[in-house]
Amino acid sequence: MARTYAEAVRNGTAAASKLLRRLDWQAKLEVEPGAVDVFAIIADLDLPLMLRPLKGLLGAFLNAPTPGILVTTQRPLSIQRFPAAHELGHCVMDHAPSLDDEDQILRRAPQAQDARTGFQETEADAFAVSLMMPRWLIHAHCARQGWRVAELERPGHVYQLSVRIGASYEATVWTLERYHLITAERRASLLQARPRTLKAALLEDFSPPSYHGDVWLLTEKDRGGRIDGSRADLFVIKLPELGAAGYLWDFDALAESGFSIVRDTRLALDEEGVGGPNIRRVVATPHAEARGVMHLEQRRPWLAAPPPLSVLSLPFDLTGPEEAGLSRAERRQRLAAA
Ligand SMILES: [Zn+2]
Repeated sequence: MARTYAEAVRNGTAAASKLLRRLDWQAKLEVEPGAVDVFAIIADLDLPLMLRPLKGLLGAFLNAPTPGILVTTQRPLSIQRFPAAHELGHCVMDHAPSLDDEDQILRRAPQAQDARTGFQETEADAFAVSLMMPRWLIHAHCARQGWRVAELERPGHVYQLSVRIGASYEATVWTLERYHLITAERRASLLQARPRTLKAALLEDFSPPSYHGDVWLLTEKDRGGRIDGSRADLFVIKLPELGAAGYLWDFDALAESGFSIVRDTRLALDEEGVGGPNIRRVVATPHAEARGVMHLEQRRPWLAAPPPLSVLSLPFDLTGPEEAGLSRAERRQRLAAA
């Protein structure tokens, strides 16, 4: 039990870091950056987890007769992961039972009230932040995308970071401030931006039936990464294409791996240059419950077995959000064991 707020933050952070190392998530994500699968960690630890609609609550931790976690089904995946990580924190740190609503989890519990219970809400929150958004994971994504600190001051870049680490835009902004990557003033201005507006700007003239899903902007810099998202997510893929030299990106494989292409345009990279590369921009929507590998090749289509000039291959899982019953990770575990 922590005696001070600062001690609680240290305890939560240390417990999450230890768990990520012990379960090899750090080693895995440093090679193939994506999101920490909180639900897979809960399944690996064999902790009872129940997903169901929870009136007014995001999650709960119960410890009698045995420890167990409840997470709401009434939120998108990026919000479901945070209470799942927070409740896992309660469990790992042997806390008292906790019923967590939005105020408790996302807006931080009042310190005076939390102090009476040994800062257990602060500990669980610090655990959740460090489990889902460890500093090294943010660095790994930024290194891959070529983002420096200046880029983290721009809402569009922070939104793309949030989508890749599987957290909400708001939680990502707060975490960047916690790691001193942005100032409090910048945090306040980033929080003015609305994710819906950022999504609409990326989609340009395409209007989806809803903006519940995330919009991923994929480029060649995503090579080697992975996509962990939801069936409502949308993809804007922008790739340089050497059209003048006869090279074209082949999007048939994208369609075969479970996506519909709803926009396909070529943008001139340089008005003056003749024969230089152009940008191919495609907007794709996944079929329901898609899971597999997104594989794209740029080659000369008229050659019989042409060697590709460039390849973009990305494993994806768009089966989220978590629905009532067992988590996706636990269902897969049981299937594999059967
Ligand atoms: Zn709690």
